[in-house]
Amino acid sequence: MGAGQATRLVEDASLAAPVRPSDRLRREGGDPHERSALAESLPTPGLDTPVARELAENARRRIRLTGQAFPKPAGGTRVLTVANQKGGVGKTTTTVNVAAALAQSGLRVLVIDLDPQGNASTALGIDHHAEVPSIYDVLVDGQPLDEVVQPCTTVEGLWCAPATIDLAGAEIELVSLVARESRLQRAVQAAATKGHEFDYILIDCPPSLGLLTVNAMVAATEVFIPIQCEYYALEGLSQLLKNIELVRAHLNPALHVSTILLTMYDGRTRLSAQVADEVREHFPEQVLRTTVPRSVRISEAPSFGETVMTYDASSSGALAYLEAASEMADRGAAGNV
Ligand code: ADP
Ligand code: MG
Repeated sequence: MGAGQATRLVEDASLAAPVRPSDRLRREGGDPHERSALAESLPTPGLDTPVARELAENARRRIRLTGQAFPKPAGGTRVLTVANQKGGVGKTTTTVNVAAALAQSGLRVLVIDLDPQGNASTALGIDHHAEVPSIYDVLVDGQPLDEVVQPCTTVEGLWCAPATIDLAGAEIELVSLVARESRLQRAVQAAATKGHEFDYILIDCPPSLGLLTVNAMVAATEVFIPIQCEYYALEGLSQLLKNIELVRAHLNPALHVSTILLTMYDGRTRLSAQVADEVREHFPEQVLRTTVPRSVRISEAPSFGETVMTYDASSSGALAYLEAASEMADRGAAGNV
């Protein structure tokens, strides 16, 4: 979605809903003590309706996790490629929300948008019209990464290297360049030696296994796979694993699948539970305990140029991403990745 379209959506949405959920929360009292009092006043589970129970449970989860400082990764910067060659499984949503959750919890985080659609840039409210210096300039022209990185204005500690529409041509332009598979890796390493230190770098991949995704896999040590809890969830996964294996064998011996997150989980269907069970059986070490529910708030947030972490911090979707990020940070601090 282009920036113009995003603005239009914002205007339309503001007509329909003048108060953003986060503004409402702030008005109701954003500080931990007031929130805690609010939680106390909620109905006791077991005596009330399912909605009241869910509200009370969400409030407790929020109080436990919000404002907590997450530990830094034990082995220095973690570079994760968020990959799955299926489109619409939640790669971009997972990238931006996990990144925002880690940053809100005190870590320094960079999102690299490697999808020509630029959805991650849009969701982070980052300008990415055609003239903006972008990841294309880094990959194709060798411009230093730090020269294209922009701060995210809604979350402190979060930066983004945006993707513009130019990137659509990069897949072909890269073919004739030297070291075409490792251009992103070089840029990331060069930025690190210049003192640009991040705790986490998350790379949002396009839904294909072409040279852009290969660049992401060479630049990273970890692959982070979001899996949608739907019928064809596992279709194509073996192709992805084969490609990871190829990259590991020829280009990046450190690469491995470290993290899997189940997204768009619908607790009312047996299908979601079955897919989740099956994925956990295959990847017991990698799958995070947290699952991300289907949530309208998650899908609304990008049209405001925000992640759900600021758009509606108290929603079940924001809480799930905060919990997932917390698990990832704990694993990283334990060196267990
Ligand atoms: P990908 O990057 O893999 O193509 P996206 O992250 O763009 O996938 O998600 C595809 C669509 O699904 C988007 O419209 C997004 O807003 C929506 N979406 C993602 N996760 C959720 C969720 N947990 N609940 C509801 N909608 C979601
Ligand atoms: Mg995407």
